[in-house]
Amino acid sequence: MQVPFYNFQELHNAAFREQANARIAKILETNAFVDGEYNHSFETEFAKKQGAKHCLLLANGTDALEIALNVHNVGPGDKVGVPGITFYATVEAILNVGATPVFIDVDIDSGLICPESTKRMIDQHSLKAIMPVHIYGLPAPIAELEKICHPKKVAIIEDAAQAQGTFLGTKPVGSTQNLVTFSFYPTKNLGAAGDAGAILCQDDEHARIIKVIRNHGRGDDSRLGRNSRCDHMQAAILDLKLPTIDQQNQARKNHARSYHQKLSKLPIKLLNEVFLDQSSWHLYPIHLGSPQERMQLQEHLKSKGVASQPFYETALSEMKSVAHFPGEDKMAKALAGRVLCLPMSPFLTEAEIDYVRDSISEFYS
Ligand SMILES: *Cc1c(COP(=O)(O)O)cnc(C)c1O
Repeated sequence: MQVPFYNFQELHNAAFREQANARIAKILETNAFVDGEYNHSFETEFAKKQGAKHCLLLANGTDALEIALNVHNVGPGDKVGVPGITFYATVEAILNVGATPVFIDVDIDSGLICPESTKRMIDQHSLKAIMPVHIYGLPAPIAELEKICHPKKVAIIEDAAQAQGTFLGTKPVGSTQNLVTFSFYPTKNLGAAGDAGAILCQDDEHARIIKVIRNHGRGDDSRLGRNSRCDHMQAAILDLKLPTIDQQNQARKNHARSYHQKLSKLPIKLLNEVFLDQSSWHLYPIHLGSPQERMQLQEHLKSKGVASQPFYETALSEMKSVAHFPGEDKMAKALAGRVLCLPMSPFLTEAEIDYVRDSISEFYS
């Protein structure tokens, strides 16, 4: 059996392609290439779904992080906290605005940003902002972070690139008072057919500034802008997919629960079951004993036709390009090399989950 990591065949099936083609044909007929009706309808509906007042579509998720830093006037001389386990883009954004990253350690059981380490790094480095990441789709402890950050006026930018479908308690990601950034890269839970991103926010002035920045500063000549527009074709695809996303995320949750039950007797560490209903299950990570065990299990799974991914190869602080920056990374280093992500998509079947379990079981027997 072949179990793919993502399943684009099913996601972009014939029925979807037919609807997408009709929208693309219409865009080509009407020459509405940027800032078209689908941009507006998606922004309205997505903001509503995620509990935000505003959604501003952008060119990609990394731009969203950078522009969020711009909104908080973060630049050269400023320090920004970043969790030790994340995709490179989070730290790239900090460097791209000329600020200095400071590593914040993670919770060893989840990989999420650690509030105690956050507090220490804020005190030691006078951070101007922190960028908690809802990594793998797990909910970062935003309420706890807000208690730490608010009295010290430290801005919080939530990197929700993997978290469309994640809940913070009973509320969807996007409903806090923070700037919340998304990527709609094709592999994300809600993906375009190319690059796109967005910022969600509650504040009218923040929304105005983001609109100005994304379109070359147009409308406010006191601000330097850039091009981070989302084109109409990507917006048309996102707008087409949006009504199907809750059902897809529910399917991911069901699959995660099924994995959780079926893998529970194996000698691997699973995430705490409190996450079963909270995570978007963008990825399904398991924790192994060592980096070597991870490599061997990945090889074994590959030989059985099961795709898996070592997200992320190392802690952020172990990457040559950023290793010289300060911070704490003990738990991030202890965990990062031992995480393996199993196949996850809305279209996974019980037979596939059984096969993944049997393949892992065979490795340990
Ligand atoms: C995908 C991702 C990004 C970057 O998004 P792009 O659209 O590729 O620029 C940022 N942060 C995290 C955690 C991501 O997973």
